[in-house]
Formats: sequence, structure tokens, C-alpha cells
Amino acid sequence: MKIVHLGGEKTVTGSCHLLQVNGLNILVDCGLAQGRDHLLPMDCWPVKPADVDFLFLTHAHIDHVGRVPELVQKGFRGEILTTHATKALLEPMLKDAAGFSHLTELESVGLLTVIDRLSWGFEYGQSFDLDRGVRFTLGRAGHILGSCWIQLDLSGEGRVVFSGDLGAEHTPLLCDPDVPEGCDVLVMEATYGDRVHGDRKDRKMRLGQVLQKALADGGKVLIPAFALGRTQELLYEMDRVFGKGDFRVPVFLDSPLGLEITKVYSSLSQYWDQEARGHLSRGDHPIDFDGLYAVRRHSDHMDLQRTDGPMVILAGSGMCTGGRIVNHIREGIEKPENDMLFVGYQVPGTPGRDILTYCGKPGGYVMLEGERLAIRAGVHLMAGYSAHADRNGLVAWVNAMVGRPRIKLVHGDGQARRALGEALELGIRRDG
Ligand SMILES: [Zn+2]
Repeated sequence: MKIVHLGGEKTVTGSCHLLQVNGLNILVDCGLAQGRDHLLPMDCWPVKPADVDFLFLTHAHIDHVGRVPELVQKGFRGEILTTHATKALLEPMLKDAAGFSHLTELESVGLLTVIDRLSWGFEYGQSFDLDRGVRFTLGRAGHILGSCWIQLDLSGEGRVVFSGDLGAEHTPLLCDPDVPEGCDVLVMEATYGDRVHGDRKDRKMRLGQVLQKALADGGKVLIPAFALGRTQELLYEMDRVFGKGDFRVPVFLDSPLGLEITKVYSSLSQYWDQEARGHLSRGDHPIDFDGLYAVRRHSDHMDLQRTDGPMVILAGSGMCTGGRIVNHIREGIEKPENDMLFVGYQVPGTPGRDILTYCGKPGGYVMLEGERLAIRAGVHLMAGYSAHADRNGLVAWVNAMVGRPRIKLVHGDGQARRALGEALELGIRRDG
């Protein structure tokens, strides 16, 4: 048995791992690299895409699935194995990503059809025989809807678990992560191996307070949000905040992808946690409420820019690098009655990061698509929205297993992997 990391070993994007066992080539994830992260060209892989037998997907984030079209284009015709929810989320996510690639519309439609034909959804916790003595089980990872860790039982070679991205406890809509019984080898993410998140329990209350204050002067609150995961978490919490009826303003979901993903989330209530299913059984849809409006057409998006508040607008991209949020910022950031609310990590070099860095500074401005804009709107950063487990969560997850596996840390920068390695007492070298 051999494991080769083709991407996402020392970085948090571009996840792709190859397991070679009993003559089988098994890939776990096939993601795009983002920012400055390096991507190994497929031509330099130790196996040709056509020789890959199975591809497991841990979840539908683009840094875990974004290269699936390229893999298929280069000859992969094996099976794609994942959860039912990830299979449902795959098409909208890849369709959106294809819009930014070199593929023509016809090519991407053709590829998406092939991908759909090759992929199979499975339930959590059930074991299935794959081939040549390999058996697999998918476990709940609690990161986004459909996310899973992958357990592979290899006859004569023990058990390997790939963690994928692991979620934190108390994520709205999602069940907490399950823990594998135990394994011999664990390939584990370390994104926040060097951090401890704040308490998430009072997050709803803080969101309510920020919104109430920001909306008191009748302006707009602009929230840049990732379409998959974060948008649905925010809708869930805003449903609770506005549902109590203390105050209420219209909320616009101005994101075609966010709307499509939200529709998939809504249709898969069997995978929600008990709290969300409880709301639904009492007749309160947990991510839909009076005063929530869908903005699909571009002309409606343009009208919304020119409409005065008070209102909340959720739009992508999450770091303001493109998408509809850019137009709203251009229109709104120079007006002091408006506010921006950040609920996600902003990578250095993105407009989102610049707004957070330069807001409140004399003459603070942001460059947006070549235009210099003064930051006069209020800017707020809300912590506690990470979709990843922190160091304590990761350590607790490993410690809950029976026995101690050999652990290979991936999906984290050097500092995060070292800190988590120390916490797990792995003895990682400084250059490891
Ligand atoms: Zn992820």
C-alpha cells in the first residue's frame, strides 16, 4: 500500500491524494489550487487519469472537486464515489467553476453529463465492497452538507482513513462529525491546527446585535459569503434573528449559485441536524422566512444596487474578488449609512482583506477592479464562522478513536501542521 499526495499536502487548497493498493489506483479528492498554492500538472502524476480506477470525494468545495472535469477530459472513466448530498451539490458547483475555465459551454455541459453518469451517492455509515479486497465506509465530517471522511479497509494492509475537511461542533443545519472506530493510517487535515476558535454558542445573538446596530440608520448591510455552506448558515441564523419579530428588514440573496445550492440544501432535510429538522416539523422552514428574497436575474441585481436600505444583501464572492458583491461594494462602500459584515477568512491580497485592513484608517480606501473607493461604510468582522474544527476539535477527534493510528497531517500550512503535530505529539520536524 502506498499513498502519494498529488496536491494539498502542505497547502490548504488543491486536495488530491493517491492510494495504490492491490493493483488499484484510488484517488481521494481532485481539487483546484487557489491563490499562490502550487498544482502538480496531471501529466506529471505517477498515474495517468485513464488508469485511475476510483475517485472518492470528501465534499463539494471547489478546492476538493474543481479538477474533476479536467480528470475526465484527460481520460478518467472510473467511478466517482461520494455521499448523496455531495453528488447533488457537484453539478451546480462544477457548472459555476466551468464559467471561469477555458472550456466552451458545450464542452462543459458534455463533461458534466459524463461526471454525473460516473458518480454514485452512498449513505453515511454503511460499508460497501469496492474491488480486490477493498471495502469502504463514509462517515459524517460535519464541514458542509454531504461532507464525509473516507475509511478504506484493505485486506491484509489494515485500515486507512482520509479525514477530508472536518467541521466544528454546533454548525447550523449539520450533525456534528462522527468519529471512526480506529484505523492504522490516518491522513488528516490541519487547517486550523494552530488555532482555537471562540465560542460559537452566542453567535446568533451577536449577529442580531450587529445587524440591529448597522441597520439603525437605514443603510444597507453587505455580507460577502461563499455560496456553499456559509450562505446557508447565515440564512439559518437570520431566520432565527428575524423570526423573533423584534426587528425585521428585507434580506436579499443576490447569488444565482447561492440560490441553487440553498435549493439543494432545502431538498435534503434528511441530512440536517435534529434542531433544524425540529424547526421544519413545527412548520418553520429553517432557511426560508418572510422577507427573504431571491435575486436571480442580472437586471434585478442592477435594480437592487440602486435601491435604498434598510436591507441586508448576501452575495458572492466570499472575499470580494468577483461576483455580484463587487457591484454592491462599488455602489455602497463610500456611503457612511452602509455597513459591511465579514463572516469568513479573507486571504491577504484580496479586496476583502484590504477593506478589513484599511477601514477606520484616515484616508482608508480599497482598489476594486481598478477603481479607488474610499471606505466610509462601517466594517464589522464576526468571528466564530469557521467551517473547520480547531486544534482542540481535531485532537479530540483523534483521541476519540480506539488506539492510535500513524498520522500524516495534510491540508495546512507549516505552522498549523507543526502546532497540531505537537498537540498530537507526533514529533514533526520543522521542515515537515
Ligand atoms: Zn472544504
